[in-house]
Amino acid sequence: MNPFDNALQQLTKAAAIIKLSPEIFKILSVPDKIITANLAIKKDDNTLEIYEGYRVQYNNARGPYKGGVRFHPQVDINEVKALAFWMSIKTAVVDIPMGGAKGGVVVDTKSLSSNELEKISRAWVRAFQDVIGPDKDIPAPDVYTNPQTMAWMADEYSKVVGQKQFAVVTGKPLDMGGSQGRDQATASGGMMVLNDLVNKRSWEPGKMSVAIQGLGNVGGGIVKALFEQGYKVVAVADSKNVIYNESGLNVPEILERKKNKQSLGGLLGVKEISLEEFFALELDVLVPAALENQITVDNAPSIKAKVILEMGNGPTTSEADEILFAKGVEVIPDVLANAGGVTVSYFEWLQNKADQYWSEEEVNTKLKDKMIDAWQKVFDTAKEKKIDYRTAAFVLAIERIAKAMSK
Ligand code: GLU
Repeated sequence: MNPFDNALQQLTKAAAIIKLSPEIFKILSVPDKIITANLAIKKDDNTLEIYEGYRVQYNNARGPYKGGVRFHPQVDINEVKALAFWMSIKTAVVDIPMGGAKGGVVVDTKSLSSNELEKISRAWVRAFQDVIGPDKDIPAPDVYTNPQTMAWMADEYSKVVGQKQFAVVTGKPLDMGGSQGRDQATASGGMMVLNDLVNKRSWEPGKMSVAIQGLGNVGGGIVKALFEQGYKVVAVADSKNVIYNESGLNVPEILERKKNKQSLGGLLGVKEISLEEFFALELDVLVPAALENQITVDNAPSIKAKVILEMGNGPTTSEADEILFAKGVEVIPDVLANAGGVTVSYFEWLQNKADQYWSEEEVNTKLKDKMIDAWQKVFDTAKEKKIDYRTAAFVLAIERIAKAMSK
């Protein structure tokens, strides 16, 4: 499924509930601007390679465009448009004064050296220098980009404009204008919402089994947090292996292997299963933390989890949403579950603008306020209107965006 079609179906569903004006619906059905660039890079072996780069600026009614840059071979324009749209919704759900954008480069980072990645990151900034900026559009990390990528980008932008400009990107390293807590922010925010739901339902983490798909920055962070907070991690999947142990996996060993870029294959005491079996496991919480379109009409009927915590963007199709809602599965949607990342990005931007550094405690207290406030509103709206959490989050976000657009 084209992720942008999925995004439009989600928009249509929420728009019908709030009887959104047809004009605003029309504007929200397309991005404000799409910019494409061909990035020409001299590789280490001196051959020239061209990589396709994108920036999609979706909506800035509530503040400057905001959103990550993804480096992945499957990046395409419909994916970037969908991700940019979801950023617009996400910033509105957590009510930070920013809009939505996303960028990407079609590239397999695993086949490149650090020197080549630096050249691509810097070339991306030079290509989009006119449209990004601390008050215009603020990039951040996403899949296969990280604080180092942001350091190169901030440095390149500062060179281009001739003055230090930390606030042009977020998710930077701590010694280069980064914020305490940003690296873990996405996982921390997701845990805050999940723990609140677990509390509301009077469940006990110690008796809950969880499975996580994706072990990147976000997936790795949430696996660690779930394990440390006493949940039983029974299965994990990365892009190559899916491993399962009914009585709980050795999470520290798995994270150590990932850190050393080792395979999860051949671990003692675990069963290797298929992704199909993974999604059908007897579970309390299923955490998709990888790419789009993982939960579809094909596997939604077999899902037995009580809760799905969407830590990746766009894992569930609209049709699958209907099936899950009818089955009573509580889906905590991406635009809320993983909004901790952009929330602390906003805090980082505020610190840069004010030449301040906040303590980790201060960041986490403010993050919790934002996440719990947003979640409570989503929870109450869903209950009141008898709709799923995703539609409730969209309803709240679109109302806020529409208000800003009609001013
Ligand atoms: N890429 C992250 C996301 O999808 C973070 C974006 C940001 O911090 O701007 O939410």
